[in-house]
Amino acid sequence: MKQNNKKRTFKWKAPSIKWKLILYMLGFSALILIVLWLFQIVLLPFFYKFIMIRQIKNTAHTLAQSADDANIDIIAEELHEESNSCIYMLYFDSRSPIDYHANEDCAIHNSQGYTVRLLRELYQRAKANDGEAILLFYQDAFYAFLKQLNRSDDMRDFFSDEIALTGNQDESILYTVVSETFSGSDVMVVVNSPITPVDATINTLSTLFLFIAGVIVILALLLSLLISRRISKPIIEINDSAKILAEGRYDVNFRGHGYREAGELADTLNYAAEELSKVDTLKNELIANISHDLRTPLTMISGYSEIMRDLPGENTPENCQIIIDEANRLTSLVNDVLDISKLQSGNQSVNLEPLCITEAVKNAMGRYAKLRDIDGYIITFEADRDAVVSADRTRIMQVLYNLVNNAVTYTGEDKTVRITQCCEKGRVRISVTDSGEGIEADKLTLIWDRYYKVDKVHKRAAMGTGLGLSIVKGIIELHHGRCGVESKLGIGSTFWFELDEYSPEIEDEKKETVD
Ligand code: ADP
Repeated sequence: MKQNNKKRTFKWKAPSIKWKLILYMLGFSALILIVLWLFQIVLLPFFYKFIMIRQIKNTAHTLAQSADDANIDIIAEELHEESNSCIYMLYFDSRSPIDYHANEDCAIHNSQGYTVRLLRELYQRAKANDGEAILLFYQDAFYAFLKQLNRSDDMRDFFSDEIALTGNQDESILYTVVSETFSGSDVMVVVNSPITPVDATINTLSTLFLFIAGVIVILALLLSLLISRRISKPIIEINDSAKILAEGRYDVNFRGHGYREAGELADTLNYAAEELSKVDTLKNELIANISHDLRTPLTMISGYSEIMRDLPGENTPENCQIIIDEANRLTSLVNDVLDISKLQSGNQSVNLEPLCITEAVKNAMGRYAKLRDIDGYIITFEADRDAVVSADRTRIMQVLYNLVNNAVTYTGEDKTVRITQCCEKGRVRISVTDSGEGIEADKLTLIWDRYYKVDKVHKRAAMGTGLGLSIVKGIIELHHGRCGVESKLGIGSTFWFELDEYSPEIEDEKKETVD
């Protein structure tokens, strides 16, 4: 039994968009929750303290400024209700004190027998400090503070430990402002309030935080599922179409909807599929052409050889010539295919040397003598003067033969092919004009493509491979020249190529820059 020895290799697959999005969303939610927890739970006491101190200060200063107001009572009551703090205003004249009691743990009201001492201490502190004094303390340490005030006092034994405040760890503030009234006497404003958030608030916020965390996580999951479906849907569709394309079905249509990138990707793939289909069609045509072109001469060669072997009378020079011609056709076909594959792969190099192109074209004309004499073709060459170019002789001749052969193939009834040479602005242009049917304007660029043939039913054209002009273009590009065609339907076509005229100075300069 055949055993499959292939090692199973583990290939890591990147997670899908869905999982990535879920991960990112959860990460983002965690970040939000951390920030929320930090500000709402961890930093809450600090913020609370900061805000409360500011509020108490404002209350005290407002009261001090309004000390002479006729409605000071109402103002004090409003502020006391608004800030939920204890307020005690002591006028150092005949006016009676204003007293609002807000919370049980109030330092002013719970100081019992210590009140006078405490007020005196606060007054002295404020006086010594530009009229304001701030006293922050833990409620359970307040009694110790009060006792300390009385250390040198004979009366201290009258006070028992009972007056200690509730004994909790909460922080409290006693803020004192001393200012002058209109009568010139002092007024002392003492405001007291706890500055630690109550446990209930913290508990509420913690519960709220847990609730928010749950909602955010659920929302993040739902959102990531929704977004991932939206993003991945067009990609999945494009992927499915790409699989069809990979099977060689080029008529597949890529559809990208939902967002721009998907649309662009679909357009690019549609374009690629179209191009692939073109190349495929051209390749199929080439294979058909080449097989046809190979079969025709091979059939001729084997047929004529058999006749010549079997019938002694048929061993004539004409029949031999047919075999030779067909063998030559085969050779040129194979050469064309080789040339194009070399040009295509970039392996073709040119051996540039000064070449009198006028002389070279004249010599090439000899090759068409038989066509002229026997078939009645009129092939002429006119040159404005002798011109020298820097070129690879063999390759440039290949270009010329390709163009002239095409012209001979496609020229009209008058069998005329006109070759001209014209020098202008340091360039030499060789043009080959025929009087054939011409080429339709929309085909003029396509004919330079590999394997492209316009007239597939044209009898003589059917012999071509569709590679000639592509080879011409490739060779001229290697010479850094230009080539092109002008054609008028019913009148004929002119194929041309241009090369730089050779000048020793320019060549020397070129060499120097290369060195
Ligand atoms: P082929 O071997 O088929 O001639 P070419 O690359 O030389 O291949 O030419 C490509 C196509 O260009 C030809 O099939 C033909 O349709 C068109 N063509 C080339 N030369 C001429 C011309 N002188 N007149 C009209 N059509 C031409």
